[in-house]
Amino acid sequence: MSKLTWLTQEIDGLKEQGLYNNIRTIGSAQGARLIVDGKDVLNFCSNNYLGLANHPKLIEAAKEATRKYGVGPAAVRTIAGTTDLHVQLEQRLAKFKGAEDVITFQSGFTANLGAISALVSKEDVIFSDRLNHASIIDGCRLSGAKIVAYEHNDAGALEDAIKEHASNLRRALIITDGVFSMDGDIAPLPALVEVAKKYDILFMVDDAHGEGVLGKGGRGIVDHFGLHGQVDIEVGTMSKAFGVVGGMVAGDKTIIEWLRQRGRPFLFSSAVTAPDAAACLAAVDLLEESTELVDKLWDNAEYFKAEMKKLGFDTGVSETPITPVMLGEAPLAQQFSRELFEEGVFAMSIGFPTVAKGKARIRVMISASHDRDDLGQGLEAFARVGRRLGVIQ
Ligand SMILES: *Cc1c(COP(=O)(O)O)cnc(C)c1O
Repeated sequence: MSKLTWLTQEIDGLKEQGLYNNIRTIGSAQGARLIVDGKDVLNFCSNNYLGLANHPKLIEAAKEATRKYGVGPAAVRTIAGTTDLHVQLEQRLAKFKGAEDVITFQSGFTANLGAISALVSKEDVIFSDRLNHASIIDGCRLSGAKIVAYEHNDAGALEDAIKEHASNLRRALIITDGVFSMDGDIAPLPALVEVAKKYDILFMVDDAHGEGVLGKGGRGIVDHFGLHGQVDIEVGTMSKAFGVVGGMVAGDKTIIEWLRQRGRPFLFSSAVTAPDAAACLAAVDLLEESTELVDKLWDNAEYFKAEMKKLGFDTGVSETPITPVMLGEAPLAQQFSRELFEEGVFAMSIGFPTVAKGKARIRVMISASHDRDDLGQGLEAFARVGRRLGVIQ
């Protein structure tokens, strides 16, 4: 017995339960097709919703910024790491989203950690949707505030929780995912905002999967529901539909000003590089120019989901391009994913702890980079594997 024996046992346990992450290696740019572990396959699992990760305009912008600014930030934002590109990006994002101000972070994950821990602390309470993303959960824990989880997407349950807990606490914060990344359903923002207003509580939404997807031309969930000025904090990411990397917080200008003073990942960790910021700016340009990519994304998603339902698959409660194919037990989902891969389709299985036990699935991510032939190929592969494994008839 060594001090690491427990780890070997834990890892063996993961393998037995079908919960061990077998990480595949990508050998090409992101797009409808990928080279995965040396094999050319249809890509059904990237968050590259709009196909921007390999867009010529973003690549050109990054190249030009590299020539001008080099590759590394060399300091944190508050010391010598804020280039004019970072400032421009924040201003452009605020305008694009119709928010008072925006601060960018290294990632959506650090945006959540930084924002939550700067706004509440041990005397306070956070009301958090039960299915919120891990980065929200970690941000809540880091803040030291009391965490009260309410039933998923249930404004009534939120109000009950507030009545029960808020009176004897200093401040409160309500947090929800905008689009829930594993099921693809959308938070009922108008009802939640109403509760927040009624009790005068700060309201925060994490729109990682809505950024570039929901709202007019991808302006996000606040735009989708026409709630401009009514959501205090809107977290987003540039690592998904924007095709680059980085996080952001959009919202009330006083809150953003505070995060520039007290957002710890902003103060103590270097920012995304100048080429990243330039590529994000090019993404905003494209989204402002035309809604074509966002429209194609939704068109593809609706077609694919309708065809999957016709085949007899259970695609859960999705209202977005995220398409879960519900399979139940994790080993079945893993086998399904392996057999799809043999058929030339790359779609990963997702199990506990990312989703609840017994709710394992394949999550298909539809993109504007797919054409109808790609979707047809994917549907045929799903049909063949589904019949072989007895999931559909
Ligand atoms: C992906 C995701 C994040 C993390 O975004 P990154 O930019 O990849 O760090 C945060 N919140 C939610 C809801 C997400 O889906």
